Amino acid sequence: MVEAKLFNKFEFVEQKLQQRREAHQFRVVAAFDPDSSVQGTRGDRSFLNFSSNDYLGLSKHPHLIETAQRYTQRYGTGATASRLVTGTYPIHQQLEHQLAIACGYEATLLFSSGFQANSTVLPALLDASALVLCDRLVHNSLIQGILASHARFMRYRHNDLTHLKSLLEKAARQSYSRIMIVSETVFSMDGDRSDVTALVQLAQDYNAILYLDDAHALGVMGKQGMGLAAHQPGIDIVVGTFGKAFGAFGAFVACSQKLRDYLVNYCPGFIYTTALPPAVVGAIAAALELVPTLGAERQHLNHLADHLRQQLSQLNYDPGNSSSQIVPVMVGDEAKTLRLSQWLEQRGMLAIAIRPPTVEPGTARLRVALSSQHTVAQVDALIHAIGEWHESSH
Ligand SMILES: *Cc1c(COP(=O)(O)O)cnc(C)c1O
Repeated sequence: MVEAKLFNKFEFVEQKLQQRREAHQFRVVAAFDPDSSVQGTRGDRSFLNFSSNDYLGLSKHPHLIETAQRYTQRYGTGATASRLVTGTYPIHQQLEHQLAIACGYEATLLFSSGFQANSTVLPALLDASALVLCDRLVHNSLIQGILASHARFMRYRHNDLTHLKSLLEKAARQSYSRIMIVSETVFSMDGDRSDVTALVQLAQDYNAILYLDDAHALGVMGKQGMGLAAHQPGIDIVVGTFGKAFGAFGAFVACSQKLRDYLVNYCPGFIYTTALPPAVVGAIAAALELVPTLGAERQHLNHLADHLRQQLSQLNYDPGNSSSQIVPVMVGDEAKTLRLSQWLEQRGMLAIAIRPPTVEPGTARLRVALSSQHTVAQVDALIHAIGEWHESSH
């Protein structure tokens, strides 16, 4: 027997945690107990929530709750197997069918989460002979998928399609088996949008596969609220998530029937996991019924976001290029951003500080996520508190 070595095998854990503490980036999870879609309790204090992605307040909607309960009564709490075994219930098929119609795509395929979809669909479509050109600011789940694929990988400057075009031009002279463009429609930390029409045109011009993540537009933008990639010919793969405006959980891919067949056969994140549980399928199906009818809610949400951006600019805060319900309050300095977040917390408002490594160094910000359930008065209270902090210039 080899002599037991007296070293701490978790030394690396100690070191890595210490690194985070020293950088003041050590994170902990804190419980938040929701009372409504925009209010809740943390510790013994009540807060207005400006940090959830429940953009339409659907997570607490009676129709979603009732349908989730009904599906549970009929089908049980778990789907009990993967989709290719006995986990495909009629409700999974119906939902995929209805989603395809609502988004204007030939087919859709459900996934357990947006993270799981992005991190496993990309490796299924790429290999070391492929090239991926992705926007600098895409979500971590897309980066994980790209890294796992072993494809050659370059990031173009955020929303800079001239840069993308020059990379496509160079790539066209090389011998990649295929080229894929990866972007989001609405960016999760900046709330700005990509130019979907121009991306479609570039993909066509260079015969590239176009992969778009529509997580923050689904429910909120586009035809009948079905996202900015809905009813848009020329997009090869769209990923939508149900954990945000749909108020539920899970995700889907919208694509051609042929690509769906391919993923069913070759995507491990679809094949080797249990199907979505009936309650979740019920909540999604109910949200899909409601979303097209929520035009007035979307209009109110837009109005709130316009109002917030305008007032922030007057206070000399930069809301960046936000044109959605996600409004960053750019601060820059990490410690200062934390102090602003704490200042708001003391006033009963949760607007979480987003810092590196989630965003690039020097771009720390509060990420304000609005909901159609917020009132103008609630947004005014937030603006007022930010204004007061500004005046006392911490
Ligand atoms: C939230 C998010 C995801 C992950 O979706 P989950 O269903 O929460 O795993 C993927 N992409 C983007 C752009 C997101 O914002």
